[in-house]
Amino acid sequence: MTFSELGLGPEVLRAIADAGYTQPTPIQEKAIPWVLQGRDVLGVAQTGTGKTASFTLPMIDILAQGRAKARMPRSLILEPTRELAAQVAENFDKYGKFHKLNMALLIGGESFGDQIKKLERGVDVLIATPGRMIDLFERGNILLTDTKFLVIDEADRMLDMGFIPDIERIVGLLPKIRQTLFFSATMPPEIKRLADAFLMNPKEVSVAPPASPAKTVTQALAVVYDEDKRQALRHLLRTEDVKNAFIFCNRKKDVAILHKSLQKHGFNAGALHGDLVQSVRTETLEAFRQGAIDLLVCSDVAARGIDIKGVSHVFNFDVPYNAEDYVHRIGRTGRAGLAGRAFSLAGPDDGKYVQAIEKLVGMEIPRVLIDGLETPELDYSADPRRRRGKPGASKEEGRRGRGERRRPEEPAPVVEERVQETRRPEREAHEHRPERRDYREERRRRREEEVEDRTPVIGFGDDIPAFILRAARPTRSTESAPSVEE
Ligand code: AMP
Repeated sequence: MTFSELGLGPEVLRAIADAGYTQPTPIQEKAIPWVLQGRDVLGVAQTGTGKTASFTLPMIDILAQGRAKARMPRSLILEPTRELAAQVAENFDKYGKFHKLNMALLIGGESFGDQIKKLERGVDVLIATPGRMIDLFERGNILLTDTKFLVIDEADRMLDMGFIPDIERIVGLLPKIRQTLFFSATMPPEIKRLADAFLMNPKEVSVAPPASPAKTVTQALAVVYDEDKRQALRHLLRTEDVKNAFIFCNRKKDVAILHKSLQKHGFNAGALHGDLVQSVRTETLEAFRQGAIDLLVCSDVAARGIDIKGVSHVFNFDVPYNAEDYVHRIGRTGRAGLAGRAFSLAGPDDGKYVQAIEKLVGMEIPRVLIDGLETPELDYSADPRRRRGKPGASKEEGRRGRGERRRPEEPAPVVEERVQETRRPEREAHEHRPERRDYREERRRRREEEVEDRTPVIGFGDDIPAFILRAARPTRSTESAPSVEE
């Protein structure tokens, strides 16, 4: 199938050709015709499948007709992280270059003034993270009564990050008659319930079962003592043909420690995690993208959706707590058909995590030995929750935290407080604490984290769109039972 068969307009087709795409990806093939027909869409797709273009391309086409009023965005795209929001904005720039749609990117940390100015001029496409969106709404800078097109992207990630109450509130402010696209990499029952609440008679489209790593990624796992991990990593970095690599840690504190250690050993490394101010996050990611930094030590903030071409390696300095995160992490390499290599370093207590990952990916990850280092047995019976200090843990084990088992003769490690990481702690809280989470407190904390951010607004410009001066195109056929009516 070709893009022109999907029903997209000539300007969008030209932008696609300029981007060098010759064929729609499966999610694009399945979703675009329904979006163009005005249908709600429930899409089960991961990043890396061409999902972003599956909604941005038809949106550009649909929004080409019409004009935005001040403070009344015509469409809204909600993204869980600033990086993903910025990436969607780049997609609009790329695919919308032959249109004059106004776009605003509302992400935390940036000065309100510029964002408000942008909104005042009227925007066709508003791309936002939920917290900043609510802030601007509460300040009276946004009216959502004219927003007839909504995209909720990465819904399962939103759930993990505690954004769902914000999203429910935002959706409650939108017109009931609208077109809604809802994407999620996985479809657990609570996400399905949300989809049922937000969508009207949606077309369900789904591609590649979630959590299947690309075939282009060669995986390997080394079991080493925790205190040998840095040495193991250095060995791999020196013996593998590493052009550039993401190195994932489970905790922000470890990102900082490992980053310093790698620099000390002469590696050209940067660090990225959610506690850094947005300007630093953006700069570091750009430096990595441009090749000014070879190694990016990061938390799971970089695991999803970050799309950098030609990344040769991914290293899991820690085995992720959540099996799905493994797939997202290693998906940063082996993109666009290129070969990639993913190495994981497992401590002896990581057996349960490794087991869960291997079950999810449907294969045993080949083991490798690291020259000069002992290879302990992987303990599949250890209870990871006990080691993370849950009730029932011995005092010492509980304090130690998971994944820090040492050789028997070693002295007990210094007590390290576990730093909150976005995905896990909230999920843990959700799983182990029966009472309701304090969402207001979570939101307040998230906003505090966003205050220092200085990322610029990306827009299409402020010209009067040329299409206003042109005769309107006939409306698209809506014969196939659209569920949304004007
Ligand atoms: P996404 O899933 O939206 O993160 O997209 C993953 C990558 O695929 C991005 O680098 C896109 O630029 C690229 N891409 C999207 N659509 C196509 C296509 N039809 N052909 C080739 N590459 C594509």
